[in-house]
Amino acid sequence: MIVLVMVDGVRPDALDATPCPTFAAIRARGASTMQAQSVMPSVTLPCHMSIFHSVPPARHGITDNLYLPMARPVTGLVERLRHHGHRSAFIHNWEPLRDLNRPETLALSYYVEAPYTHQYDNEVAAQAARVIADGRHAFVFVYLGGVDVAGHAFGWMSPGYLEQLRHLDADLGTIVAALPADATLIVHADHGGHERTHGTASPDDMTIPWMAFGPGIRAGYTITEPVSLLDTAPTITHMLGIGPDAAWEGRAITEILI
Ligand SMILES: [Zn+2]
Repeated sequence: MIVLVMVDGVRPDALDATPCPTFAAIRARGASTMQAQSVMPSVTLPCHMSIFHSVPPARHGITDNLYLPMARPVTGLVERLRHHGHRSAFIHNWEPLRDLNRPETLALSYYVEAPYTHQYDNEVAAQAARVIADGRHAFVFVYLGGVDVAGHAFGWMSPGYLEQLRHLDADLGTIVAALPADATLIVHADHGGHERTHGTASPDDMTIPWMAFGPGIRAGYTITEPVSLLDTAPTITHMLGIGPDAAWEGRAITEILI
């Protein structure tokens, strides 16, 4: 089982600005970089289209948070896994992510609308823990949006943003605690942020944390090669013994493997 947890809007420097014991434990147990790169525009839906299709926005054509079908469709990660007989689950609290996967490719989809509170991500994390524990899916995607909401409300790196990051760290701990011993966890952000926004090419918006741990992944290892959002899907298929789709432009991050 591979679990991908998306922590929307988490800047790498924020992980050192406030206590984040779960993030720290993941980095200690696995391989990580605090220099991974988002795509332009560094906006949530374009970023997720790039994560799940391994092509930049210039190729998939989604340049804001309004979904449009691709003129020349690229096979997505979930569709490719389905083609190889693997079940995928999606658990999220940002509704536009429903458009990331073509019909009849997901085995489980769970969306919860939540008003912003410090408990924003609690239900998604609890549901993710249940889905992980039942062990019926080869790939589980979990999207936690509370830190991005706090960034827009209070400003990136503000006390309110960092407070929500501590809550996210606890929710991430719920997910980590549910992982079976043979599971691989990948955690990264889609973009960073500055002031009360994001979407620019500035390092504050473009630089993201990317980390993974599990059997076969180096422990306490700092990734030296460049990592992009485009590399997540090829890395996941590689770990499952499947090649990338021919249209994908990212590469498997094999450096993290023992
Ligand atoms: Zn945002």
